[in-house]
Amino acid sequence: MAKKLFPEAMARLYARMFVCKVCKSKIRADPAKVRLGKVKCRKCKSKALRLKRKPAV
Ligand SMILES: [Zn+2]
Repeated sequence: MAKKLFPEAMARLYARMFVCKVCKSKIRADPAKVRLGKVKCRKCKSKALRLKRKPAV
């Protein structure tokens, strides 16, 4: 695993990235749309999403 953190890679992987609470699949979406319930998991159609957490380094 690469220990070095690339800001652009971190932004790509974690900015606006959500995780389905039901099936744990990742969805990139606008946080405002997620809050309004407009974003659904494309796998299980759930609207229970949470922000993806950055791993502690
Ligand atoms: Zn899901």
